Amino acid sequence: MPKTKNIIEIKDLNVIYNKGKSSQVRALENVNLKFQPKEWIIVFGPSGCGKSTLLNSIAGLETPTSGEVHVLGADINKLDSNQKAEYRRNTVGMVFQSFHLINSLKVLENICLPQVFFGANLQSRKKIAKSFLDRFGIADQAKKYPSDISGGQKQKVSIARALMNKPEIILADEPMGNLDSKSTYNVMAILKDLNKVDKKTIIMVTHDHHHLKYADRIVHIKDGKVLRVEVIKKRRDVGNDGKRGGRMILAKEVEVPMDLKLLMNSFRDLTNPNVGQLLAPFKVKQTFSYLMLPLTNHQVELTQKSMRRFFLEGLSKKQFFEELNQSVEKGGAGWDKRGAEKFVKEVIAFYDQAQKIDYSESLKSARRLVNFFIERYPIRKTEYRLNILRNGIENRLKNELSRDEFQEILDKPSSKEGLGLNKKTAQKIARELELTILIRYSS
Ligand code: ADP
Ligand code: MG
Repeated sequence: MPKTKNIIEIKDLNVIYNKGKSSQVRALENVNLKFQPKEWIIVFGPSGCGKSTLLNSIAGLETPTSGEVHVLGADINKLDSNQKAEYRRNTVGMVFQSFHLINSLKVLENICLPQVFFGANLQSRKKIAKSFLDRFGIADQAKKYPSDISGGQKQKVSIARALMNKPEIILADEPMGNLDSKSTYNVMAILKDLNKVDKKTIIMVTHDHHHLKYADRIVHIKDGKVLRVEVIKKRRDVGNDGKRGGRMILAKEVEVPMDLKLLMNSFRDLTNPNVGQLLAPFKVKQTFSYLMLPLTNHQVELTQKSMRRFFLEGLSKKQFFEELNQSVEKGGAGWDKRGAEKFVKEVIAFYDQAQKIDYSESLKSARRLVNFFIERYPIRKTEYRLNILRNGIENRLKNELSRDEFQEILDKPSSKEGLGLNKKTAQKIARELELTILIRYSS
C-alpha cells in the first residue's frame, strides 16, 4: 500500500441516538477524518463528547445515521453481514476499559476465543496465545481465571485477545481507565511496541492529557464535533529503553506482600520488589554491618558466605561457628574463637527471634519480642512500660507504626506515654526490631 493512502477515511459522519425522541442525542456531528496506516491516533476529549461512538463507528459496532466510514478502501456499512463479521474479526482488534473478559474461561481460553469460529487448529491457536502472554511478561498466568489476576494483567490479556487474528488496526477505548500508574505505563509500552515494531495502526481514546505524548495525530473532540486535528511531528523511533528501535521494557507488576512493604519502608536500599534472590544477600549484609567486627575484606566475604549457608542452606549452628573459627588456610573465615562465639551467638539470637514472628498472631509475636529485648537491655519491668513496648512492637509488626515512630515511643519520656530510654538504646532496639523482621522475611 502506498504510504500516503489513508487506512481510514470518515466522511460527514453523523450519529444520532434516539432520533426524533425527546431523548435525542447528537453524539457525532459532521465528522470528517483521514488516518494513515501505522499511525498512532489519539481521540481526545471530555467524557460524553462522542469518543466511544467514533471508535464504535470505526469498529462497525455502530451504524451511522448518515455519512460513510471507509476502512482499507471499503465502506464498511455497505458490507453484507458476513463481510462485516469478517471485518470485525480480522481487520480491527478492540481493547476496552473494562477488559470484557469472560470470567468462566481461563486466560488462555479467553485469548483463543476470537478464532474459535474461525476453524483454526486449537494447538496452534494456543501456541500463538502463549507467545503473546510471553511477550507481555505474564506467561505464568495462562491457566488462571480473570478474577484471579490483576487489572494490569487483565488488560494485557485483552490486548493479546485483540491481536489473535492479526488485525491491522487496534481500537482501544480508554484502555488505562481502570489501571494504576504502573499498569498504565505497561499498556502504553505494549501499544507503543505494537505500533513501532508490529506496525499496527492504533486508535486510542482517552480523556487524560498525559497520554497525548504518544500520539502521531490527536483528534480533539467536543460535543460530538471535531474541534481540530493535531499532527505531531514524527519523533525518532526510540524504544522505551532509549535505544533506536529498542524493545519494550515492561515494569514489573509484582504483588508486594505486606511484610515486604514494611521492610521497604525501613531499608532504603531495598527497592526492587523482585526480591526472591535479592533478599538473601541483603539479610546477610545488613546483619553483618550491624555486628561489624574488624575483619579483612576476604574474611568479610567468607563470613557472609557462611551466614548465607546458615540462613538458607540449613548449616547447623555448630558448623556455622566452626566455619568462622577455622583459619583461612583451612577454608574458614579466620576469626578468633571468642569473636566467633560472640558473633554466632548474636546471629542466632536474631535468627531464632525472627523465626518466632508470626504475622497472623502479632500480639503473641510482640510478647516474645518484649522478652527478647528486656533480656538484652536495661528496661525497667513495670507493667506500664512492658505494655508500651509490647504495643509498640505489635503496631510495628502490623505496619501501623513506622520504624521512626516506633523509635520515638522508646525514646520519649513516660510522662508522654513513652518508654523513656536513652536515645542510643532506643535506636538500637528499633534497629534490632527491623533486623529481626528482615531476617523473618521468607525465612
Ligand atoms: P465518550 O466516549 O466521549 O464519553 P460517548 O460516545 O459514549 O462519549 O457518548 C456520546 C454521547 O452519546 C453522550 O451524551 C452519551 O450519553 C450518548 N450516548 C452514547 N451511547 C448512547 C446510546 N446507546 N443511546 C443513547 N445515547 C447514547
Ligand atoms: Mg467512552
